[in-house]
Amino acid sequence: MKIDKIVLRKVAMPLQSVFETSFAAMTTKKYIVVEVYSEGLIGYGECSANEFPLYNEEFQDGAWVLLKNIMVPMLLKNQDLINHPDDTSELFKHIRKNNMAKSSINCAVWDLYAKKKGLPLAKALGGSKDKVETGVSIGIQKDADTMLKVVEGYLNEGYRRVKIKIKPGHDIDIMSAVRKEFGPDLPLQADANSAYTLNDISVMKELDDLNLVLIEQPLSHDDIIDHAKLQAQIKTRVCLDESILSVEDARKAIELKSCGIINIKVARVGGLTEAKKIQAYCMSQGIPVWCGGMVDAGIARVHNIAIATLPGYKIANDIPASSRYYAEDIVTPLVKMEGTYVRVPEATGIGYEIDQDNLDKFTYEHCEIAK
Ligand code: MG
Repeated sequence: MKIDKIVLRKVAMPLQSVFETSFAAMTTKKYIVVEVYSEGLIGYGECSANEFPLYNEEFQDGAWVLLKNIMVPMLLKNQDLINHPDDTSELFKHIRKNNMAKSSINCAVWDLYAKKKGLPLAKALGGSKDKVETGVSIGIQKDADTMLKVVEGYLNEGYRRVKIKIKPGHDIDIMSAVRKEFGPDLPLQADANSAYTLNDISVMKELDDLNLVLIEQPLSHDDIIDHAKLQAQIKTRVCLDESILSVEDARKAIELKSCGIINIKVARVGGLTEAKKIQAYCMSQGIPVWCGGMVDAGIARVHNIAIATLPGYKIANDIPASSRYYAEDIVTPLVKMEGTYVRVPEATGIGYEIDQDNLDKFTYEHCEIAK
């Protein structure tokens, strides 16, 4: 695949409201946009590494140096080896972890590949759905009353599946109040982002009584052993997020019975190529998956829409409308809800245009690298 040049951008976008998880409160989303130029076409990727290395080991400035000094020069030098997006995974396989940096290039090359083939990205990936179900992820609020108002607001916007971030001290009361207020039929799930240990089994058992769709990553970010011990003691499905970085991790977790469902984040697993492998393996094992998010801006959001068209994505995904997090986005039009779904675009590649004015406005540093 001929690559003429690659542009990297550091981007900062203000959030509509603070998004608080068990490890941080975010008011501005910082990320990197990767643009791969090839024979008149541009493939777009988004590196989701946050400003600080709190969700995983990656952070925006670190990913910037890795991309700029090592990965982009490697890609340019070895462009003759890249005939398919999967070849970028092969090219970077000796770089340990740093999956979000890898993902940004893999996704950009997938976009480019689909555009060259004249296919929507979803079709290029093998997907078949024309819409994907979406849910909302709600950050930690100061108390239960505030949470009830926030949940009600999102239900009024059309969301029908609610995921709530929890941490010790902000768990049972909040989740019980939401279950009581909105009834037994609301698909409700909790995400702890690794905030608990097996010493908190009593909390997990109380959550187990609330008929949740799943409990996401309750224990350590790199654990699959204790999660298996927990899963054996509760009927609610444990969902792994942070612990699954590859299809090999998924295999081990499923063999150990550490989870009943897996949240596939394209960025966390190194791109669409590895996400496809995890989806295929989980399907072969009868384990459902769904698509998680990283408070994504427009490019990552539409990559997520494409991957969630694959079979095996069985429950509502964290692929909300652009307006969930942002007043303005870098794709146009904004991603909107249709009922409880977002539509899969039919145009080639990611299927959305880049809003160049907004992308330029939110870019605060950029560089251009040619062979
Ligand atoms: Mg999560």
